[in-house]
This record gives sequence, structure tokens and C-alpha cells, in this order.
Amino acid sequence: QVVTRFAPSPTGYLHIGGARTALFNWLYARGRGGKFLLRIEDTDRERSTPEATAAILQGMDWLGLDHDGEVISQFEGAARHAEVAHQLLAEGKAYKCFATQDEIAAFRDAARAEGKSTLYRSPWRDADSSTHPDAPFVVRIKAPQEGTTVIQDEVQGDVTIRNDQLDDMILLRSDGTPVYMLAVVVDDHDMGVTHVIRGDDHLNNAARQMMIYTAMGWDLPVWAHIPLIHGPDGKKLSKRHGALGAQEYQAMGYPAAGMRNYLARLGWSHGDDEFFSDAQALEWFDLDGIGKSPARFDTKKLENLCGQHIAVSDDAALLHELVAYLAAVDAPELSDDKKDGLSRAMYCLKERAKTFPELIEKAEFILVDRPLQPDAKAQKNLDTVSRGILKELTPQLQNASWSRDGLEAVTNSFAEAKEIKFGKMAGPLRAALAGRSVTPSVFDMMLVLGRDETLARLEDASH
Ligand code: GLU
Repeated sequence: QVVTRFAPSPTGYLHIGGARTALFNWLYARGRGGKFLLRIEDTDRERSTPEATAAILQGMDWLGLDHDGEVISQFEGAARHAEVAHQLLAEGKAYKCFATQDEIAAFRDAARAEGKSTLYRSPWRDADSSTHPDAPFVVRIKAPQEGTTVIQDEVQGDVTIRNDQLDDMILLRSDGTPVYMLAVVVDDHDMGVTHVIRGDDHLNNAARQMMIYTAMGWDLPVWAHIPLIHGPDGKKLSKRHGALGAQEYQAMGYPAAGMRNYLARLGWSHGDDEFFSDAQALEWFDLDGIGKSPARFDTKKLENLCGQHIAVSDDAALLHELVAYLAAVDAPELSDDKKDGLSRAMYCLKERAKTFPELIEKAEFILVDRPLQPDAKAQKNLDTVSRGILKELTPQLQNASWSRDGLEAVTNSFAEAKEIKFGKMAGPLRAALAGRSVTPSVFDMMLVLGRDETLARLEDASH
């Protein structure tokens, strides 16, 4: 069974790169009936905060990336991590190193002076320390010193590292606490992780982590190190490129499905497919499709995909997500009446809206109450002539059959009789019905508002 995990360090919000890593792991596991686990790498006690953990969980929740089992705290596993170091020590695969900071610094100075590698070589590796008097020590792993280590990576291919470039990495600090690198390997092993999909900034760690797997005789996971995300200028994505946090994208009103689609395409591809559903992504996602070069963040593409997802969304689901969006940005709660209106209007609101704010803008005609307060642009469409037109049109609409065909027929024959173009009437009608100039089609508004409300608004506007 496939088991993947997302292992964020809770030192800040869930950024786009992290969200993408989480999504890839989620897609890989869920698409194969596997498990997707969440481990919070909170061993750095200074920098880890509960707020950051909450923000990460919130971001994953928004993106619909549900994980299996409890959230695992890496810090809580410290005793288990230390136990593994002690086992390696007992088996002679690790050793106690009593070297002081001064001794290590002196080793480096001498190496530098001789033009040799400054990688620390501890004299304790081959020394008998069993009779050493009580003194602080660290536990170091015995790294292979000859030959090469080959990391078989599903994205990068075989990555070969010369073993003389590996040092006897510390497993336990002198206070007995385990280092991060040990914690990751022990946790991944104990959690039964079969596939590690993560940023390629961890590729070098893989070589060192491999030493621990080998020393313990544990099976290696499949590794897939994915290239980092770049900004539109080709440089590593950073704050100067704009928003970085998943929560910021939620607050900008991007629908989660669009965001998932976009993030999936950020560094992974399936033929020429750009727009796809979750079901398709789950079916198609694999490690072969992950590209070797960094993907560039492209807001236009994100918006385009979001627009397509909104357009095909189920109306009820969309309303649900819209309500969640409003709550996330602390907007006032909608009354049941307004929700009702939105639900009736959803079919026309979702056309050509790329974000929830755009959808809300088009929904203005439902969210306002009489008497409307037209904005400046709309007000311009309610001059004397226009008001006159509305005044004459109103009684005709009164007798119209309240269907799209009926309303169109009445309005068109009115326009014909008056020899005015429909375009001339649209502005005033939008202003009268919505108090805005960007709205759904006037017939959609009339249908959604119903006869009484439509006529009342027209009357309000024609005075
Ligand atoms: N905690 C690491 C990070 O946030 C991830 C480590 C891993 O995936 O192995 O970058």
C-alpha cells in the first residue's frame, strides 16, 4: 500500500510551494487507494508555533487535502529517535565523539592551512571509548568513506554523491536530543512511508538520510524531489512576487478546485491537459509527469483555470464555497433570503467569474435592498431620457409572460416601436435593477428577481 506524507515545519503559513508538495503527496496516495499522513516537524522549538500549525491545517482544509490518522508531532517522538541512535551505537554503527568545539575548530584550521577538506574527521570513530571518563559527547554515525552513494530519484534520476564528501553526521547532540535528520528517517520508517515527494532543496539531505536507512537495514522509500517554484521572472518565488500563502489566495477568492488544478499543473503535466477535475487529476497523477525544471508561477493561468472551474461547478457546492469564502474574509453573514436569491441566480453568476469577489460583484442585484443606491456609473444611465424609457416600458412588462422568451419579446418590440437599440436600454435597465453597470444579463436579473420586485425597482428608478 502506498503511504505518503506531508511534513511541514510549523514556522509560518502554508506557502504555495508547501501546498503544492502536500497536493502531490495527496494525489499520489489518494489516486492509489493509499494513505496520506501529516507530520508536523516541530523539533525546532524556538521557531515552531501553534499558530503556524493552525495556519497549515487551515490551508490544507481549504484545499480539501484531508489526511489520514492523527496529526503527528515530530517533537513528541524524540525518545524513539534517540532510541534508534542508541541502537546504532550498540551495534557499532555509530560512536560517541568526545571532541570539543575547540578541537573541531583546530582540525578545520589545520585542514584549511593544508588545503585539505574541512569535513570533520573525528578521532573517536575508531577509538575505544568504553573506558572514557564521564564527559559530554555527541553520537555520530559511521559514514561510508569510500565509494559512492547513489540516490535513485524518480524526478532527478540517479544522483551520485562521493562518500568522501559525507561526514560522520551527528545523530544525538551532547544533551542527548536527536537531530532533525534522524527524526525524519525514523518517522518515515515508523509511519510506513513508501514515497517521499518533497522539494529538491532536500535532495542533499537524502544522501545523509540514506546512511541511516542503510545502517538500520531499513527499506528506502521511493524519493521524488520536485523542483522549486519560480516567479514569472524565473527567479525563486519570494515575497516580492506577491502573495505566497495559501490563505492569501483563499482571501483573494480563488475557488479551491481551481487552485488545486493550478497547483497540480505547477511542475506536473499530463499531455496537453490544462483544465481538469479532481477525479482526472487523481487518475492521472504520477511521478513520471513531474518536470525536471522549475515551474513558473503564472497568475493569469491560475485565474483562467479558476474561471473554468467556477463555470462548471455545481450551483449548490458553489454557494457553499462562496459562503465559506465570505466567512474567511470576515464579511457579514448572508440572510437565508439572500442565500436563496444567490442560489437561484448562481446559473448566471458563475459565467465568466474567475474569483468569488467577481461573482459577488455580479450578485449585487440580489444583495441590495430597495430603494437601490446606484453607483456613479449607473447613475449616469438614469438621466431624464432613460428614466422616460423605463417609465414607458414598465407597464408593458407588467403584462409580459415571465419567461425569458416572454421578456425578450416585450422588450424587443418596445425597442422596435420606439426605434431605439436594445443596447441603449440595457444600461438603464442594469442601473434600475442592480444599481450597477456590471451585472448579469437584464433578462436573467428579471427572471431571478421575479415580476413584483422587477417592476418595483423599475418604478423606483423611473421617478
Ligand atoms: N520539514 C521539511 C520542510 O518543511 C520537509 C522535510 C521532508 O519532507 O522530508 O521543508
